[in-house]
Amino acid sequence: MKISFTKKLIENDHLVVLVPQQSTAVKLLGDQFNRVREIINDFLSNNPEEKSSKFKTLSFRSNKKICYFTIARCKEKINSSAKLSFAGQLLSYLERQKAKNISIHLEETKSFKAAEYLEYIVSGLFLKDYRFEKYKTISNKDFKISQLKILSNLSSSLKEKVLNGIKVFDGVFLTRDLVSEPANILYPEKFVDYCMKLEKVGIKIEVLDERKLKSLGMNALLGVAQGSVRPARVMIFKWDGDKKNKKSSPLSFIGKGVTFDTGGISIKPSSGMEDMKWDMGGAGVVAGLMYTLALRKAKVNAIGAVGLVENMPDGNAQRPGDIVRSLSGQTIEVLNTDAEGRLVLADVLWYIKEKYKPRFMIDLATLTGAIIVALGDRYAGLFSNDDDLANKLLSASKGSEELLWRLPIDEDFDKLLNCQVADMKNITGTRGAGSITAAQFLKRFVGNVSWAHLDIAGVTWSKKGTNFSRAGGTGYGVRLLDEFVKKYYEDKS
Ligand SMILES: [Zn+2]
Repeated sequence: MKISFTKKLIENDHLVVLVPQQSTAVKLLGDQFNRVREIINDFLSNNPEEKSSKFKTLSFRSNKKICYFTIARCKEKINSSAKLSFAGQLLSYLERQKAKNISIHLEETKSFKAAEYLEYIVSGLFLKDYRFEKYKTISNKDFKISQLKILSNLSSSLKEKVLNGIKVFDGVFLTRDLVSEPANILYPEKFVDYCMKLEKVGIKIEVLDERKLKSLGMNALLGVAQGSVRPARVMIFKWDGDKKNKKSSPLSFIGKGVTFDTGGISIKPSSGMEDMKWDMGGAGVVAGLMYTLALRKAKVNAIGAVGLVENMPDGNAQRPGDIVRSLSGQTIEVLNTDAEGRLVLADVLWYIKEKYKPRFMIDLATLTGAIIVALGDRYAGLFSNDDDLANKLLSASKGSEELLWRLPIDEDFDKLLNCQVADMKNITGTRGAGSITAAQFLKRFVGNVSWAHLDIAGVTWSKKGTNFSRAGGTGYGVRLLDEFVKKYYEDKS
């Protein structure tokens, strides 16, 4: 979808008029709108707000052609995420109307600041418009909107704001691309290749290969990778946007990047196993977030780190009962090779804590099926050892409409991980509280650092689509964490 700004309506364009819900008439100044204005005002007076649906397409005949236009009735006082949702619904509606080239007009009233609304409408349209179709070679029959024109007298600063708003979505789209790629294309080395483009926007990248990981002692992570012919990688992104405070502790974001999870020797049932291509969702969010921070030149210093492995069951694979010595020195009895995400994160968390002394660590992982049982696909689970950090995340989540729900951690859950033959086991062997005990496991690798864990297994992928995305990768987490950084950590001076 291409965006442009214009003052004149092109005759064949599908005009969309956003009308505040209470309005009973529109002004629509200019001769070009004479006929449309008449029809809309007629419609509005005959169809009061409560009786009409959100969107209505009407038409008239002009010079033997039929001109179509849509009335979109928007609520005035709603929060930013509701505006984004409204725009997502509008996009789906216009696609059903087969509106190829769209011109949008916003009706300004005394109480309704159209220009403020516009930013969200454009953002919402773009977020929802994304699709992943690079592997479709036979002509694609899906209808697509190709042009979006804004019919308005906007100041150049507002135009720039609108354009900047959609530019940072390239971070969200990178995350969606990464989770959508199949595992034969996207394995640890290829994830690295895919993300090298972040260097172009000023991010420093470091890649730790297997030899380096071995010499460091990341045996928990390497144990997961040993059943695959694809070697493991750890990729570190560094964004130094706060030049004034170069020495300050960086913010840090850590992602689980299991590029495919068969479960290993504790193999999963085959039904639905294809979903395990997006078991690298946490790593995808970290890459997308770092890209976003760099694209908008955020004044913060931040580290992103992702642990990349493929969990496969070959002759060299890790066995249930194996004991590994993690980078921290703590030993782990691997009772279930499908509880592998925590093994990967354990080493990356410890490494980031020791090497960068970060201000906090936030990890993201499609970690447990249990979180889907608890929270479904609307909320991600939040676990933290720091109430202040947790509250900041909860508040930012409301602003981005990427929702979080905090769950408890405590000593009694931690004890369930104790093990007879090693320092801990990677599953508890009890049925309850699976997401919490997974978080307790991670907590053993964060020391005293302020830490939060986001279990995103339920929100990374949507089979039916959301108000912000089509069926497939949602990109959940990028806008939430970008909002969180912007709100609490950015140098505003
Ligand atoms: Zn697994």
